[in-house]
Amino acid sequence: MDDVGAASKQHEVYGLTRIRLGPVRLPFPGNLLVLKYLPPIKRWGPYRELTAADWEGVLDRIERSGSRMTVGITAGWVETDGTVTPYPRKFPAAGRVVRQGVERGLLEVANHGYTHCVLAGGRFRPRLFSGNRADHREFYDWLPTAVHREHLRRSQAILQEFLGRAVETFVPPGNVLSRKTLDAAPEVGIRFVSCRGAREWAPAPGLALLDDARVLAFHDRDVVRGGLDWLDRLLVAAPPGRYSTVREVALA
Ligand SMILES: [Zn+2]
Repeated sequence: MDDVGAASKQHEVYGLTRIRLGPVRLPFPGNLLVLKYLPPIKRWGPYRELTAADWEGVLDRIERSGSRMTVGITAGWVETDGTVTPYPRKFPAAGRVVRQGVERGLLEVANHGYTHCVLAGGRFRPRLFSGNRADHREFYDWLPTAVHREHLRRSQAILQEFLGRAVETFVPPGNVLSRKTLDAAPEVGIRFVSCRGAREWAPAPGLALLDDARVLAFHDRDVVRGGLDWLDRLLVAAPPGRYSTVREVALA
């Protein structure tokens, strides 16, 4: 489950730009002003963060089903002014339950970036006349090597201090990464990279690459919108042996 702690749930706002009318798809100004905030035109955000009570329910269901889950946490919450608040400080109550989930062996926490977005120039903010989806990815090849390294270093520091243990799995936001990211990752303790198309990056020295074909990827948004019932249906449909973490699959 990705996007825990990611401020993209507040700032990533874009609308439908095509509307189906019988066999044709008509252009539609879904990114105009407030239209992009209104269902059914609204496509991604805003939606809320999972609460401590939500997390209690998630852990309860995972435990009862005999499964385990990898949670991709974005270590820094990007405020509207562009400053970054570490996840454990932004969501202390929810964070405590997540940490208990790790201690109980139900969750693996993965690094899902430092910001989930491009910080430079305030590009992450919603716009009046267009969507901003492209800027809610973090590890673009056109960003300097120093940015890749710095974002990995900062996110690892926040998450490892929060948990008091190593974080070894990296899930690049929006499946966007570059050779610069892969070169920097082992230096900060990352051993596993999980995303769509991961194996196309092989060989990546020091890293095991895990394609989405072996992962059931979803977002906290699915649980916020569908509730714990949605998660129950997912767990009921689990294959024999139940679900395990990315780390466990990579090491198997
Ligand atoms: Zn994400």
